[in-house]
Amino acid sequence: MPELRHNLITREWVIIATDRAKRPSDFRNSIDRKAAPSHVDSCPFCPGNESKTPEEFHRVTIDGMWKMRVVANKYPAVDREGTPERSINGTRRFVAGVGLHDVIIESPLHNTTLALMEPEDLVIALGLYKERFIEAYNDPRVEHVIIFKNHGLGAGTTIDHPHAQLIAIPIVPVQHRDRVTTAMQYFDDTGVCLMCDTLKTEINDKSRIVIETEHFLTFIPYAALSPFHTWIFPKRHCASFSGITDEEQADLAFHLKSILSKFYYGLEDPDYNLVIRSSRPKDIGNEFTHWYMSLMPKLSKTAGFELGSGMYINQSLPEENAAFLRDAHSN
Ligand SMILES: [Zn+2]
Ligand SMILES: [Zn+2]
Repeated sequence: MPELRHNLITREWVIIATDRAKRPSDFRNSIDRKAAPSHVDSCPFCPGNESKTPEEFHRVTIDGMWKMRVVANKYPAVDREGTPERSINGTRRFVAGVGLHDVIIESPLHNTTLALMEPEDLVIALGLYKERFIEAYNDPRVEHVIIFKNHGLGAGTTIDHPHAQLIAIPIVPVQHRDRVTTAMQYFDDTGVCLMCDTLKTEINDKSRIVIETEHFLTFIPYAALSPFHTWIFPKRHCASFSGITDEEQADLAFHLKSILSKFYYGLEDPDYNLVIRSSRPKDIGNEFTHWYMSLMPKLSKTAGFELGSGMYINQSLPEENAAFLRDAHSN
């Protein structure tokens, strides 16, 4: 019989369709990505085309060549200039769309991906994420910052060249506020952080763990919303990504490289989204929220049921997904 599992952190329900569960290997990407060239003349992120990107904020250079660049998005979701004026007129309300929209170009090579990059490159990328995250919150107009990555067409990317994005907006998204409220209520009821408690449960249970090291746990959530939906939790309680230490950053780079390699080799390079979920740096000391990274391979489609209910149907078993990934090749 299918199980309806409750995700305590997101408050979402998911139907784990055990009866028609597919085997993990059935989720392999069927699209044969042609080997792309390492340089594409028309790509704005490839070396030689630096003038095609707007303002550059940061550049990591090694041996006279740039390795990573942080630039403004040419087609930003929000405008870098202006003030977040609010307008309230009856039930019509809006805020001027000001904020920041950065692109973090992660390699000079067009055809690589985090899964294939060196672990030390991922340390550099995570360092840039952290630096821009902190800087974005220094802008007084910014209320919330999201760092994310869209890998592949199915995950919403328009440019194949490896890159991540940061969007800083002048309001707090309802979803974030709702999850903070849930975490706060759990803390009030139990005296414990919900994510710290989740870590304890997962470490005791073991069946959904993919990678465990001193500082991080990579696992499939008990109520994973979709096949191979993966969380990377820092073991040390910390509300904001801004608090990650250098040692933790190196350990996180190892987890990220390993899990993305497992996706790459085990699931044949699926499209995926990566998101960092975090509170603001100034809330770093709060006892009830706990930053983490979420990875969602795009292996199933959401449809009418999901739209109509806000629930999900996962046609795979989180425990089987974890076992499959534990065995999958990574390097
Ligand atoms: Zn390129
Ligand atoms: Zn915690």
